[in-house]
Amino acid sequence: MSVAEPVLRTARRFWQTALDMLYPRVCHGCQDPLPEDAPHQGKAAWFCGSCCEELVEIQAPYCCVCGEPFDGAMTEAFVCKNCAGRRIAFDFAVAGFKADGPLREMILQFKYGRQLTLRAGLADMLAAALSDPRLAGEDLRQWLLVPVPLHWTRQYWRGFNQSWELCRRLSAHTGIPAAQILRRHSRTSPQARLHRKKRLQNLKRAFALRKPRPWHTLPPLQGRRILLVDDVLTTGATAHECAKILKQEAGAEKVVVITVARG
Ligand SMILES: [Zn+2]
Ligand SMILES: [Zn+2]
Repeated sequence: MSVAEPVLRTARRFWQTALDMLYPRVCHGCQDPLPEDAPHQGKAAWFCGSCCEELVEIQAPYCCVCGEPFDGAMTEAFVCKNCAGRRIAFDFAVAGFKADGPLREMILQFKYGRQLTLRAGLADMLAAALSDPRLAGEDLRQWLLVPVPLHWTRQYWRGFNQSWELCRRLSAHTGIPAAQILRRHSRTSPQARLHRKKRLQNLKRAFALRKPRPWHTLPPLQGRRILLVDDVLTTGATAHECAKILKQEAGAEKVVVITVARG
């Protein structure tokens, strides 16, 4: 530990206390004030006690590919019926919570209500995914955080790419480097309105690697282990297409998808 670390920690604590006094923290679910002694990390830093109870944490057993939780007792690793027999380019996907209740509301406010200030809380909830046992023992600072890209027109209207904002926050807290190396070059209709077959057709060839430019260089990608970041994973089709590019074109060794929530 460097000499500067305790000083930085004290400064951060002082700053946090000053901020709490100026702007009392409220629950991101019901807007009730949070208790003064609420922690600054983890779900209790963002939600009150009763909203925390409404959060559904994803616990075993879950599909070892897409992370879909399964009701009932299961002692061995299993693959759900959506993943069985499907070619999936990512190694596995992991989310800390189900996209239900107050967390779903928080994600919608972040994305569609353009409340950028919610990114700190969501990045903290995203960090829960890193405690997956399959990532334990990995030196994650050697990995790379990569956001699922948005088409530029959608990013223009929203004002930001929610996945990149989550990457940046998580990178600042964990020291895992982050880079925007994918781009989305065809705009697809909102996923929810399309049938599965049409949706998959739309997604194919929607993504590409960004070209290096003098003002945007790409980090080394050959043999790299990548954490692909998105806010919510639903069917996994988008993550599959992105992972395919990362492996086939960038030469990534491994792609693990981490999301704040599982749809
Ligand atoms: Zn609440
Ligand atoms: Zn699955």
